[in-house]
This record gives sequence, structure tokens and C-alpha cells, in this order.
Amino acid sequence: MPYKLLSKSKYLSGLQCPKFLWIQINEPERIPETDPVTQYIFDQGHLVGELAKKVFPGGIDIPADDFMGNIKQTKELLEQRNPLFEAGILAEGIYSRVDILNPSNENSWDIIEVKSTTGVKDVHLDDVSFQKYCCEMLGLKIEKCFLMHINNRYVKEGEIYPEKFFTLEDITGEVEESSNGIQDRIADMLEVISAPICPETTIGKHCSDPYDCPLSECWAFLPEYNIFKLYYGGKKSFDLFSNGIITINEIPDSFKLNDKQRIQQACEISGRPHVDGEGISNFLGTLQYPLYYLDFETIGPAVPLFDGTRPYQAIPFQFSLHVAENDGTRPKHFSFLASGTGDFRPTFLAELKNVLGDTGSIVVYNQGFEEGILKELAIMFPEYDDWITSVRGRLVDLLQPFRQFHYYSPLQKGSASLKNVLPALTGKGYNELDISDGQAASIAFQAVTYGSVSEEERNKVRADLEKYCALDTEGMIWIVERLEGLCE
Ligand code: SF4
Repeated sequence: MPYKLLSKSKYLSGLQCPKFLWIQINEPERIPETDPVTQYIFDQGHLVGELAKKVFPGGIDIPADDFMGNIKQTKELLEQRNPLFEAGILAEGIYSRVDILNPSNENSWDIIEVKSTTGVKDVHLDDVSFQKYCCEMLGLKIEKCFLMHINNRYVKEGEIYPEKFFTLEDITGEVEESSNGIQDRIADMLEVISAPICPETTIGKHCSDPYDCPLSECWAFLPEYNIFKLYYGGKKSFDLFSNGIITINEIPDSFKLNDKQRIQQACEISGRPHVDGEGISNFLGTLQYPLYYLDFETIGPAVPLFDGTRPYQAIPFQFSLHVAENDGTRPKHFSFLASGTGDFRPTFLAELKNVLGDTGSIVVYNQGFEEGILKELAIMFPEYDDWITSVRGRLVDLLQPFRQFHYYSPLQKGSASLKNVLPALTGKGYNELDISDGQAASIAFQAVTYGSVSEEERNKVRADLEKYCALDTEGMIWIVERLEGLCE
């Protein structure tokens, strides 16, 4: 076996960035440990992969934990002409594991790549073209290539039917196109990984396209208030960076910024917040007591858990509600955190209806999110339709004054999200919490609800979830108080 193999995942890394490829092979210790969100995505992918195998009865699962054993077994099984799962293909310094190798006409095979996405992406074509090349190098004849991805219109009713859950797309033609020049690309990459020195590559859009590169060390040279913190900077930030501009302060007047970005720049230069008293006043004028500060947390599993739900549909499992009856009264706190593994949406709705009075504004942060959840609940539980319609009519979005830049502090670092606004405006934040963002909450809830964990761990995580969601709504109260203070 050659010392430095180019595997499929390394080939994709190499297409994204030669530096990343070289580090993965030669100095993998520089790569940070997989973060929980990425791990969760991998785990979901694994679950989906297992489901896909059911579409091919009689398929043989080739154990993948023994690298050489997997390759040897694959060679032996190719003779039998059964569908093969996790077939290991090693040929002349390149290596690939094929999700499903399915026998087709005569002596040829089809490659079926299983993805937990809901469509075909360019990177999938590169992925499959590498697999096809490996197979052909080994002497296999590849007839067709398919991408088997999740059907986003699938609605669970009873058990999951894999044949309906997946969409099988014939991508043979697209893979053929992606294969143009693959031999040269592989040769270049084999040269990169054999080189004694890491190639120099500067940061750029490729760092998050098609995947987020985990090597944060490449970005570490940037100062805290750098050009990539420009509000919705996107292409502008990269253009400025390629012209040697590193901080927002340095952006020349001649460079076209929108009004919000100009405000941001002025704040960076002055070091002081921007306050549009009239805009804030107008926003505060829309609030009507009693005020209900509301926040939802959701899960969105790739494989639906409950009847009537689709893949990746956001399912609410928790809410926090702070109720301020009048100006100056101490807010009361109510919360709901689902327990048990059954469909918790009916209880969620009943509990919410119980504590959400009939009048007064319902303050949320990023209205589209909570409203989207409510709309879907109304479809699934039509008995709540009228009530949900009235609730939606009372929603007020606390994100708006920040999105509109009625207030902007340089401490927000170019973001209007609650996680940035709360500390910037009040000095309080999420640093002390073990769960400090929605994705972490979602993953933690699923782990302690559907995974096997000790009672102690489950209780600890559930307490952390309560603290996290409560801070989201209490934080909104503090923000409104600060905005009121700015208008006095
Ligand atoms: S962070 Fe960007 S430049 Fe650095 S290795 Fe990753 S992709 Fe390459």
C-alpha cells in the first residue's frame, strides 16, 4: 500500500484548497477536533446511509473498520454480483469507498452515492467522478451513476418507507463532465501531498465552499474588528481583502458601502454606538402590555420522527416565556421542555395556549422563525388554527430595530443576532452557559431524549436547556429596557 493515499474525501479537500489537503495528510494534528454540529451532521448522514441500504435487498454490507480487510473482501465479493455496501476500491495510490455498488447489465456496475441532502450539488458530482475513476482504474465497468438523496416532499405516515424517502437521480452525464481532466487533478494532488512543504494558500471564499474548512488558524492573523465583520459584507469583504484592506476603519470613502455598512464604519471609527432615537421610539410604540417575550427551540432531524412531518422540518420541543403585565412589574416566567420520545407537539401547543394570554404583544427575536413554526403547527393541528392566526397577528420582532440599524454598537461586530446584541447592549451574555446557541440546544436535546445517557446526564442537559432558553427571553426584556433608557 502506498504511503500517502489520495482518498475520495481528500480529493474533495484538494479541490477546495491544496493547503487543507496537505495538512490533512501530513500534519493532521493541526486540524481541530470535529465539533458537535459537524459530528451531528455526520451522524445524520450515517442514519440516512443505513436507511438507503434497505432499498437494495440482498445487498452485502462490507465491514469498513478494517481498511485492508474491506478492500480484500470487496475484491472477492465482486465476483458474486450482489449489491455491495461500502465497497472499498484501491487502485494506484487512490482509494474510494462506494456507498452502493449495484450490478447492472452484464459485467458492469452502477455507482449509487447516498447523500442526506435534498438535491444534487456540484460537489456530489466531483465526489462520484472520483469514485468512478477509482473503479475504472481497478478494471470495473461503470454503466451509470446515481445520487440517492432525500425526497424533501416525503411525509412520514407510520413507518419510514425507504423507496419513497429517497429520490434516485441519474447523474451519469454530469459525472462524465466532472470527470474531464480528473487524471491531471489527481496527479497534481498526489504531488501536493508528497511535497515536504505545505503549499501557501491565502484565505478566500473557498474556505467555506463547498464546506466550512475547520482550519481556523488561517484566519487567526485578522484583528478582532476585521473586514469580514462588515454587515452582510459577502463579496465586498473579499474584494476589500484582496486590495489589502484588513479593518473596517480602513475602507476608503470611494468604496461603495450601503447605509448600514457606513453606520457600522462610523461606529468603528468613533468607538461609540449609533442611536436613532426616533426609530427606536417608533418601535417601542408598537409594544402593548402585557408583553409576552417568547422563544422556541426546535429539532430538525433528517429522518422524520413523527407522523405528518417531513425531513428536516423544524419541530418545536421547548419554549420559554417571560410575561410582563405592566411597565415596572416583575416578569413571570413560564417554560416547556418536552419529555418522552413521542410526538410532543400537542403538549407544546396546549401548554403554550395555557400561558399566552389573549391580548398584548408577543415579542420574539427573528419573527420568521417562530412564525414559521406556528404556521406549520396550524396546518397539522387545525383545531388551533384560529388561535394561531391571532397569535401571529400579535408578534413583534425585536430584531427589527437592530436590523434597521436604529441601534448599532461596534461590540455587535457586524451582527444583529440576539447572541451579539445582548452582550453589546447589556454586558450580559451566554458565555457562562454550557448550552449557548440553538444548534447546540437541538443536538443536546436529541442526544438526551433519543440516545442512551445516564439519568444524571439527562437531568443536567435538561437543566442547561432551561437556562439557555430562559436567557433568550429574559435577555429580550433587558434589551427592551435598554432601548427604553436610550429614549428617555
Ligand atoms: S482555512 Fe481556507 S486557506 Fe486555510 S486551509 Fe482551510 S480552506 Fe485553505
